[in-house]
Amino acid sequence: MSTDAPNKMKETKMDTIKLTINGRETIVKKGATVLEAVLEAGVYIPTLCYDSDLKPYGGCRLCVVEIERMRGLVSACTTPATDGMVVRTETPKVNQSRRITMELIIANHHGDCLACAKNQDCELLKIARYLGIEQDRVDRLRKSTQELPVDDSHPAFVRDLNKCILCAKCVRACHEVVCHDAIDIAFRGNSARIATFGDKPIAESVCKSCGECVARCPTGALVPKWEKLPATEVKTICPYCGVGCSLYLGVRDNEVVSVRGDPEGPANKGSLCVKGRWGYGFINHPERLTMPLIRIPGVPRGAGQDGKVHEIFREATWDEALELAAKKLLELKQNYGPDNIAALSSAKCTNEDNYVMQKFVRAVLGTNNIDHCARLCHASTVVGGIAAFGRGAMSNSYSDFEKTELFFIIGSNTTECHPVIGSIIKRRVRFGGAKLIVADPRSIELSEYAAVRLPHNPGTDVALINGLMHVIIREGLENKEFIRERTEGFEELRQLVEKYTPEAVEAVTGVPRADIRAAARLFGETKSACILYSMGITQHTTGTDNVKSVANLLLLTGNMGREGTGFSPLRGQNNVQGACDMGALPNVYPGYQRVDDPTVRMKFETAWGCKLSDHPGLTVTEIADAILKGDIKGLYVMGENPVLSEPNLEHFKQALEKVELLIVQDIFVSETAWMADIVLPGAAFAEKDGTFTNTERRVQRVRQAVLPPGEAKPDWEIISVLAGKMVKPFGYQTASQIMDEIASLTPIYGGIHFDRLDRGGLQWPCPDSSHPGTRFLYQDGFARGRGKFHAVDYIAPAESISKGYPLVLTTGRILEHWHTGTMSRRANVLSELRPSGVVEIHPSDAAKLKFVEGDVVVVASKRGRVEVPVHITEKSPPGVVFMSFHWREAPANILTNDALDPLAKIPEYKVSAVNAVRRRKKPR
Ligand code: SF4
Ligand code: SF4
Repeated sequence: MSTDAPNKMKETKMDTIKLTINGRETIVKKGATVLEAVLEAGVYIPTLCYDSDLKPYGGCRLCVVEIERMRGLVSACTTPATDGMVVRTETPKVNQSRRITMELIIANHHGDCLACAKNQDCELLKIARYLGIEQDRVDRLRKSTQELPVDDSHPAFVRDLNKCILCAKCVRACHEVVCHDAIDIAFRGNSARIATFGDKPIAESVCKSCGECVARCPTGALVPKWEKLPATEVKTICPYCGVGCSLYLGVRDNEVVSVRGDPEGPANKGSLCVKGRWGYGFINHPERLTMPLIRIPGVPRGAGQDGKVHEIFREATWDEALELAAKKLLELKQNYGPDNIAALSSAKCTNEDNYVMQKFVRAVLGTNNIDHCARLCHASTVVGGIAAFGRGAMSNSYSDFEKTELFFIIGSNTTECHPVIGSIIKRRVRFGGAKLIVADPRSIELSEYAAVRLPHNPGTDVALINGLMHVIIREGLENKEFIRERTEGFEELRQLVEKYTPEAVEAVTGVPRADIRAAARLFGETKSACILYSMGITQHTTGTDNVKSVANLLLLTGNMGREGTGFSPLRGQNNVQGACDMGALPNVYPGYQRVDDPTVRMKFETAWGCKLSDHPGLTVTEIADAILKGDIKGLYVMGENPVLSEPNLEHFKQALEKVELLIVQDIFVSETAWMADIVLPGAAFAEKDGTFTNTERRVQRVRQAVLPPGEAKPDWEIISVLAGKMVKPFGYQTASQIMDEIASLTPIYGGIHFDRLDRGGLQWPCPDSSHPGTRFLYQDGFARGRGKFHAVDYIAPAESISKGYPLVLTTGRILEHWHTGTMSRRANVLSELRPSGVVEIHPSDAAKLKFVEGDVVVVASKRGRVEVPVHITEKSPPGVVFMSFHWREAPANILTNDALDPLAKIPEYKVSAVNAVRRRKKPR
C-alpha cells in the first residue's frame, strides 16, 4: 500500500458539558475551567495572570465571577466548569470587586506611563480603561518612588521590577513553557519580587535569553531594548535552525524593528529561542553586500581576509558581473568539459533558490557536481534512512512527541542546537510523565532529565546500540509481530548482536553494564518510543552504520508508523531538509529521483528542454581533492562558507587558492567570499518570498518583509539572469511559479503550492492538491516495502589517541551561535552574549596540563593548530575536549579529520586526536 496516503486516526467522541453564561447556553470540553468556558462563549473577562499556555494561577483576582449556588465571588481561572453551572461575569458586585483589586495593583506599580516602552500595548492600562479607571486616576494611584534598581545587564531586554505587578507570568513561562527555571518569586508579603536564582543580575544568571518571559509580561516590567513599534507585521520562518519556528517580523520604514513568536506556529506555538528572538541585527548590518564585486587584477587569492573590501574588489554593475561570470563559466565548460565545474547550494536559502541552483548546474552547466552542507551534517541520515525505510527524513512530527512515552536522545545536544524541541522534551518529561534516555559522551542539559544516562566514549554508538538490542532480544522484549509482518533481515541482526553482551559493550563504550541493561529494558518495555539524534550520530566515518543502528532499534521494538513513535533526525540548518528535497545533491533530482535512472532523467530533460548528465557528480568533500588534482577548475558557491565549515580547513583553503574560477553569492563577504573572483550580493531571508522545509518535513512560507539593501537580489533571480546570459533565462517572475514547477516534477511535493501554505504549511509527502500532507510516515508500509535490518558491526573511529595526541576533540554548536557565524556573529545581541569561542576541558585534564580558567592554549592535531581560551568544566569527560566551530579566530575545523564515511561521504567531525599546551609567552 502507498505510504503517501493521509494518516488515518481514530476519531474519539469529545466529552462535553453544558453551562449557562450571562443567560446563554455554552457547550465546552469536560475539564475546562470557568474562564475557558467564558472565553469559549466569546465573553470578555479582564485578567492579568491568565495565559492559555500556563497552569491556572489565580493571582490577579480580576477574573472573579458570580456562580449560582456558590458563596461569594470566585476566580474563574481556577474554578472547574461543571455541567449545569450558571455563571454571571458582569454584575455590580463583580465590577466593584474588580475595580478595587485593580486600584490596589496600580497602587503597587511605579512608572511614568508616558515614558514607558509598553505604553501602547500595556495590559494594565487597557484593563484600567475597561474598568473605567481613567489615566489621571492611574497617575494619582501609582507609587511615585522607584524603590528597586533597574536590571539593565542583559543585552536584549531590561527588567524594571518597579513596574512588575507580580502576575508571575514570567516565572511560570520560564518554568512551564521553556523549563529553564532561571527566575522565581523571592521573599514574601510586601517584599515579594521576581528574582533570578541566586539574585544575580540577569546577564550573570542561568537565564537562557529565550525571551519567553519578556513576550508574556503584560506591563513594562520586561521590555526588549531594541524593539520599536512596528507599522506592520509579516509572518515568516526563523532563519536559523531546522526546527522551523514561525514568527512575525515587525517592520517600520523598511527596517525589521520587532519579532514576535507566532502562537499558531505548528513547530513553536509562539516560543522562540535566543537566536529566533533576538538574532536579526545582521539584516541591516553595515557590512551587508549591496553591489556585485569583482577581484581587482593582481590581488592574489587569499589576500584580504579581514582586510578592506575595496582593496581587494571593485564594485561592478549586475550586467558586468554576470557577463563576466557567464563568459568564464562558458570558457571552462568549453575548454575542459562540464564536469570540471562544481557548485555548492545552500541550506540557508529557500527551496526555490535551491531548485533553481540545481537546475542551473544540471541544465546550463551540464553536470551533476552539486552538493551542499547536508553532506556535512545529515548525508548519513539520507543514506541510512533510505536503506532501512526507503526515505531519509524524519518519520514523525513534533505533535507526535505529545504521545511519546519514551524519548531516546543520542548524539544530540537538543537544548542548545534545537532549543524549542529541547523545551518540548523537557515539558513532556517534567509534566507529561514521559521518560528519557540520554546517550552522549558529554554531560548535556537533558542528562539532568534522564531516567537512564549512557555517557559512551565518542564514536562507539554502534557498539552501544548493539548492546541494547542484545539485551532486548535476550529478554524477549522485541516486537515479534512487527518483525514478522513488516521487516526483513532480522536473523542476521540477531546473530550479530549475540556477541554484544553488556560486559563486552561496557569495555568498548565505558558505559556500566547495569545502565545498558536498564536502558534496554526501558526501551523494550515502552509502547511508544522515538529516537532523536543529530550530528553526534551522523558525523563519523561510521555515520551510515550509526543511522542504520538507530533504525534497527526502532524496527526491533516496532516503534515505527504509529503516533508517538519514530525516527527523528534533527536537521541542523533552517532549510537543510528542503535543500536535500530540492535535489541539491550530486546523485538525485528533486524528490530523491535518481540521476542515473533513465526514465527519471528523460522526465527532467523533457521539462527543462536539454540533455542531462547520466552519472552522479562529486560531493562537497570530494571537490577539494578534485580541485587539487586539477579535475575541477571552477566553483560556484551560493550561501555557504566552506572555508570555516569544511574539515581539515587548510587543505580546503589550498584547493580554493588553486581553483581557476571562484564565484561566491552571499549576503556578506564571508571567509569564502574573501577568496572569490566574483562576489554576487544575495537577499537575506527577510527580503524574499519562498519556502523552507523544516526537520519534520513541513514546507512553510517565507515572506518578504523588507527590501534587499542596494542592488542585492533573491538568489533564484540572480541565477535565472545568469542562465539567460549563458543559454536562455529561466523566465520565472515569482517564487510561487518556481514552486509550481517543483510540484509538477516532484511527486512528494506534488500538492504543494503557495496558496495552500498560509495556515501552518504542509508536510510532505503531499502528492496532490487535495492531499492534507503526512504527519507521520510508514503507517501502512515502508517506502521500500519492508523495513530492513542491517547487521552492523562496531568499527572504531578513523583516528585514535596516541602519545603525541592524547585527547579526543569533539565539535558542535552552542546555543547563541549558528554555523560559521556569518549571521549570528553580526547580530549584536548574540555576539554580546557570546563574543568568542573556548575549548572546554575537564578539571582533571586541566590540572594535569596546568591550565587555569581563561588561559589561552594551543590545541593541535596532525592537520593544524589553533589558539583558544580554555574553559574548565565537567561537561566534557576526562580525555575529551570540546570546541564549537563558529569562530574564524579559532577555527575548530583546522583540527578536524577529513576521513569520510565510505557511503555518505560525511567527515568525522566528532572524533579527532589532539593535544593541548599552554601558549608560550612571546619573548620581550
Ligand atoms: S529569558 Fe527565558 S530563560 Fe531567561 S528568565 Fe526569561 S524565560 Fe527564563
Ligand atoms: S529553535 Fe531554531 S527555528 Fe526556533 S527560534 Fe530557535 S533557532 Fe529559530
